Amino acid sequence: MTGVTLTLTGLVRRYGAVAAVAGVDLTVGDGETVALLGPSGCGKSTLLRLVAGLEPPDAGRITLGGHDLTGVPAERRGVGMVFQDFALFPHLSVRDNVAFGLVEQGVTGDAREARVAALLERMGLGAEADRRPDQLSGGQQQRVALARALAPEPDLLLLDEPLSNLDRTLKAELLGFLADLLADARVRAIYVTHDQEEAFTVGDRVAVMRGGLIQQVGTPQALATQPGDAWTAGFLGVREVLPDAVVRMLGLPGPTLLRVDTLTPDDAGTAFTVTSVRRVGEAVQLGLQHDDWGVELAWRGHAREFVGGIPEAGREVRMRVPDDAWVPLETQA
Ligand code: ADP
Repeated sequence: MTGVTLTLTGLVRRYGAVAAVAGVDLTVGDGETVALLGPSGCGKSTLLRLVAGLEPPDAGRITLGGHDLTGVPAERRGVGMVFQDFALFPHLSVRDNVAFGLVEQGVTGDAREARVAALLERMGLGAEADRRPDQLSGGQQQRVALARALAPEPDLLLLDEPLSNLDRTLKAELLGFLADLLADARVRAIYVTHDQEEAFTVGDRVAVMRGGLIQQVGTPQALATQPGDAWTAGFLGVREVLPDAVVRMLGLPGPTLLRVDTLTPDDAGTAFTVTSVRRVGEAVQLGLQHDDWGVELAWRGHAREFVGGIPEAGREVRMRVPDDAWVPLETQA
């Protein structure tokens, strides 16, 4: 169905006393990818299962255009799914995995073959058509799963942490591929992730979820520059809301965020105390405390930025704070 919007209205799902989904309103436009981003346990997977029809909501409605999907069984919702564990049919070839949904739809002969071949080509799997899933890398398997989900031209594609079982290199590679694919395929998609980079790369809009509720929805740019509240700003990690006293001390005109990602090590910069150090490969995460500001900043960067080596916890480090690090906090309407 083209030209129509998927609409979630007041969706609720309780498990005993826990409201895993506590009243969610969300729209997904035609051809739009909405990334659902939030910490573990916030209700992302539950919301996805409600939309897929794998569980019924306790309250609320799901509509596509004017058509009510709430009571429609999963297999008749026109939904394609991609899971973190790929969930391919192990005994079927790549070609037959991708053809599976088309067979179910009764698409036969040349039309089916042509569609499968085109998708395999698009996924860079042309040479793998006759292999079985266990003969492929994780990245290839996930591309087969994507092709299988897209083959029947679903009204909605649901992706649940599709990259979280891949190692870092494959993940980075597939992330770019996925973002291009979702933009090209013009399919409505909901992409569940706890990873901010993924959400901001694939999402036309990002919905930040917390405690069963959508905390804020916006374009990646709007979220990055105008987080609507302190929790969202903190969760997104690269901005810290400065306390009012600091704002006054620094002579800033109003509520202000500090873009921690713009700080760079510089011997002539502002002094911070290093409160924690975490290093994974070349990536470095530092906790930084300024004596007067009273907030702990979570800084991320590269080992190579520290000419004299990575500072230890408890030591002083000097960082340049550029003028564009300060961003007025515009509260959203
Ligand atoms: P996320 O995908 O964001 O990690 P989930 O949707 O898996 O979050 O879980 C949201 C909350 O609902 C959690 O508190 C989780 O423990 C609870 N929950 C999820 N599924 C079930 C279930 N089948 N039975 C009971 N509690 C559940």
